[in-house]
Amino acid sequence: MASICAPVSGQDLPRILVIATGGTIAGQEQGGQLTGAQLVEAVPGLADLALIEVEEFSRVGSSAIGPGHWIRLSRRVNRVFESDPSLAGVIVTHGTDTMEETAYFLHLTIEETRPVVMVGSMRNSTAVSADGPANLLAAARVIGHPEVKAQGVLVVLNDEIHSARDVRKTDNNRVDTFVSREFGMLGVVDVDNVVFRRKVTTRHTSVSEVHLLPETTELPDVPLVADFAGNDASLLKAAYESGADAIVVQAFAGGRASPAVREAYEEIVASGVPVVLASRVPEGRVMSDPQGTNDGLVYSGDLPPHKARVLVMLALQRPSSTARLQRLMDTH
Ligand code: ASP
Repeated sequence: MASICAPVSGQDLPRILVIATGGTIAGQEQGGQLTGAQLVEAVPGLADLALIEVEEFSRVGSSAIGPGHWIRLSRRVNRVFESDPSLAGVIVTHGTDTMEETAYFLHLTIEETRPVVMVGSMRNSTAVSADGPANLLAAARVIGHPEVKAQGVLVVLNDEIHSARDVRKTDNNRVDTFVSREFGMLGVVDVDNVVFRRKVTTRHTSVSEVHLLPETTELPDVPLVADFAGNDASLLKAAYESGADAIVVQAFAGGRASPAVREAYEEIVASGVPVVLASRVPEGRVMSDPQGTNDGLVYSGDLPPHKARVLVMLALQRPSSTARLQRLMDTH
């Protein structure tokens, strides 16, 4: 249920919908979580920037958010945009642990050029110097910026604007945890200005080649299996034998893998189950089989394993050749 919870100081203020899902941003020292409305009310100055409406989606830490939530959230945001042409944008408050997956899923499935900004915090709402209110304020300022359209889903924390595609959580504790390592952030939120310096060049949102299909109730089963030194490939084989629709392998640098894992690829690929090679190393690309000519593998490029998984899950809503999967990896 949407509620308006801010006094209006001008007719022309942009209207923003805040969808609250939970996470540390809503957490309190004494336990329990703030509602979305309470979160918004705690942000000084927000009412001067925008007309805020709030919707409760869930109240959970993001380790409990999964594909079912992604589907519901994406449909909700698309429906809101469709039915409300004057809405300036949507802020999704979300835990930081799986924000990367949810943000990338929305980045691929929101059919819209208006902004969706994901916001979380590293300190809970009752902590000294809680970062949630400042992040929410920054998100609202980003939505009000004229250049924000058609940049895909954004992640705004610590006065930085990141693309959902490139951003990674890099620190377990600190407020500067979100980093777009290789290509950098898109912009910054300064005290007096919002500045964009880079654009996303891969496909997303209104120009994405993948969509959340109307008939989809569940996404394909795509486990992510990490390689490790001395791996006998039993976990990879178990994933395959469980009936997976595709498997993402978190390989070593460049896509290199243990001998047993490499051996297992052959049977899996021959049976028609796509194997996507991604790297556990945070920078650089996996573009080909570094240890031979293993036909039939898909390479994640510079998508990290957990984001490559999101893309494959969306792609496999319909039967897809290896060539299609590869094209999607290369372009999204
Ligand atoms: N445990 C939290 C979560 O929901 C962490 C956070 O929000 O930063 O992901």
